[in-house]
Amino acid sequence: MMQIEEWVEGAATAVILGHTHPDGDCVGSCLGLRSYLRAVKPELRVQVYLEPFAEEFHFLAGADTVSADFHEKKRFDICFALDCSDRERLGDAAGYLDAAERTVCLDHHITNEGFADVNVICSQASSTSEVLAELMEPARIDRATAECLYLGIVHDTSVFKHSNTSEKTMRIAGALLSKGVSSSHIIDDTFYRKTFGQNRILGCALLAAELRLEGRLIASCVTGEDLARCGVTNRDLDGIIDQLRVTEGVEVAVFLYEAGPGMFKVSLRSNDLADVSRIARSFGGGGHVKAAGCTVSGTREEILERVTALAAEQLRQEPSERGGRPDGAGNEREKNGRNTCYK
Ligand code: 5GP
Ligand code: MN
Repeated sequence: MMQIEEWVEGAATAVILGHTHPDGDCVGSCLGLRSYLRAVKPELRVQVYLEPFAEEFHFLAGADTVSADFHEKKRFDICFALDCSDRERLGDAAGYLDAAERTVCLDHHITNEGFADVNVICSQASSTSEVLAELMEPARIDRATAECLYLGIVHDTSVFKHSNTSEKTMRIAGALLSKGVSSSHIIDDTFYRKTFGQNRILGCALLAAELRLEGRLIASCVTGEDLARCGVTNRDLDGIIDQLRVTEGVEVAVFLYEAGPGMFKVSLRSNDLADVSRIARSFGGGGHVKAAGCTVSGTREEILERVTALAAEQLRQEPSERGGRPDGAGNEREKNGRNTCYK
């Protein structure tokens, strides 16, 4: 029996949760698991809870059944927490995790220390969608499930571009394509297409960008006022950090947006030399070696000063002092035996 089928054995109800501000991998993995469970165990009652997510993902099967009501008095036999590196990332949905009979966390973040009864954390995997695809029986993955997982992989690899794209990622994506997924639809319509407002805020962020550390760090920030001027919300900011990161000479990219009074969401990316998960972790956030984030209170200037100082320290160090290989290979978490990664 496959692992997922074993976990839901004897369960009548299941809940699937993802992180706050759900991205493509989060939505894709949650809806992909929902579709798979419906195919392999139709009698299981499955509910997905997520914060409202981007319009582009609404075509995925089951998107219309997702609830954002995090305060229902419901207890589920099994809870799956997907793409979340810690319990806090679940936001207001954490109550469903706490109340569930059994909990399973499936993730690929290097900073995840395992907060569920069962933890499958593969920091080498491109995405939680890839982790899930490996736990599913290939013959029982239908087109609906494949679309969700393919979308998740496309988004977390920025269309098979980031260094987290392995040979295995491509093999899994190929197998998903064989289920009838329209690759060009998913890539063009959910990743590259931008609304006019999204392009305007991208332009605004690029104009506001500044170089620090002799051009090795790029930073930009957009305020609530900028969002209003461009007619967008904080759900329209995907891709900005990636454009900053590809600036010539840059090792670390930092993007801030105002998340509330005196509070900023910070996105961090690195090219080859820095481990930005360490920077994020020192602010209570987390993520991957090359892509991480956190939410920090303070002024834009204060936060940028602190992040710049930590990045400068990272860039001065030898790779061994930075916390392992920049690609995260051989990290200690997968060796300590507490969490499992199914290869
Ligand atoms: P992004 O910059 O795209 O929001 O996030 C980059 C990566 O860092 C993602 O894998 C995301 O899950 C993780 N991340 C972003 N913000 C936070 C945070 O506040 N806490 C934790 N633990 N991880 C975060
Ligand atoms: Mn992910």
